[in-house]
Amino acid sequence: MIIILKREATKEQADVLLKVIKDHGLEPLYMPGSERTVLGALGDERVLADLSLDSYPFVDRVLPILSPYKRASRELQSHDTVVRVRDVSIGPGRFTVMAGPCAVESEEQIVDSARIVKAAGAQILRGGAFKPRSSPYSFQGLEEEGLTLLSIASRETGLPVVTEITDIHYIDTVSKHADMLQIGARNMQNFRLLQEVGRSKKPVLLKRGMSATYNDLLMSAEYILSEGNSQVVLCERGIRTFEHGTRNTLDLNAVPYLREKSHLPIIVDPSHGTGIRDLVLPMSKAAAACGADGLIVEVHPHPDRALSDGPQSLFPEQFSRLMEQIARIAELEGRSLT
Ligand code: PEP
Ligand code: MN
Repeated sequence: MIIILKREATKEQADVLLKVIKDHGLEPLYMPGSERTVLGALGDERVLADLSLDSYPFVDRVLPILSPYKRASRELQSHDTVVRVRDVSIGPGRFTVMAGPCAVESEEQIVDSARIVKAAGAQILRGGAFKPRSSPYSFQGLEEEGLTLLSIASRETGLPVVTEITDIHYIDTVSKHADMLQIGARNMQNFRLLQEVGRSKKPVLLKRGMSATYNDLLMSAEYILSEGNSQVVLCERGIRTFEHGTRNTLDLNAVPYLREKSHLPIIVDPSHGTGIRDLVLPMSKAAAACGADGLIVEVHPHPDRALSDGPQSLFPEQFSRLMEQIARIAELEGRSLT
C-alpha cells in the first residue's frame, strides 16, 4: 500500500501513521519527497485493507501496490536506483562494463586480465572463484585461493571486483574479497542465499535464471530488498529456448520490460547469452541500444587456453574494439562509459 500525504502534513502526523502500520505487524516505509511525503505499508493485504488509512485527515490518497514484488516495483519508487560498487556507479546516465575471465585460474591470468580490461576502459573486474559448473568433472574454481588472487588483481589495477557466491556458508569469506556479490543463474531462486546477501551490505548482481520469467527475477530481487539491501543490479544472461544454435537465447526484451516495471539497474551478459565469441560484440551493441545500464563480458588473455567458457571469451583486442564501439552507442543513449 502507498499512502500519499497531503502537502501540509507534518512529520508528527506521518509518525502517527507509521506507528499504526507497525503496531499491526506491517512494515512501515517513510519516503519524504520535495513536494510531499509518501508512506508505504508492506505486509498482509487483508490487514492493510482493514486499516482504513484513507480516513485520516492528513492523508490524500491510498493506492494499492498491484505488483507482487513491492520494493522492486516502480509503483513504490518511481526514480531509478543508482547502485554503487566502491567508486563506480551503475544507473542512469552511465554505461558500466564489468569484464574479465569466466574463472580465476592463476595469479598471472587474473592480473593480466585485470590490466587488459582496465586498459580498454572496463570499470569492474569479473572472475569466478566458486564456479557452479553443469558437470562435476569440469573445473570448479580455485575457491578461497581464487578470492585472494582477485584481491591481488584488484589492488594492482584499482578495479573493484564482482564474483559469484554459491553458498550461504561462504558469505563472510567472499565478502572479504568481493566488492559486489554475484548470484548466478543457477542460484536465482536459492531463497536462503538471497536472504543472506540481502542482510549483507555488499551490492548484489542478480542474474536471471535460465528458465525464470521476469516476474520470477523481480521476486528474487524482492527477497534481497526485503532484507534491507537496496543495492541490487538485475542481469539478463539468456534463457533456455528450443534454439540450440546458440548456448542460450539472449532475451533483450527483458531490458525495456524490466525498466518499465522496476527502478533497479539492468545489465546484459552477452557472453553466456550467446556462448559464441563472435556474437558478443553485436549483442553488446544491441544491449546498449535498447537501454541497458551496462554489460558483463567474459575476456581472457588466452581464450584458447581458458579452463572454462573459452569459446565465448573475447580476445583482448576484441574487447578493446567492443569498448570503442559501445562508447558511441552509449553516448547516443545519453550515457557515458566513465
Ligand atoms: C558467470 O557469470 O560466471 C556465470 C556462471 O553465469 P550464469 O550464472 O549466468 O550462468
Ligand atoms: Mn562463464
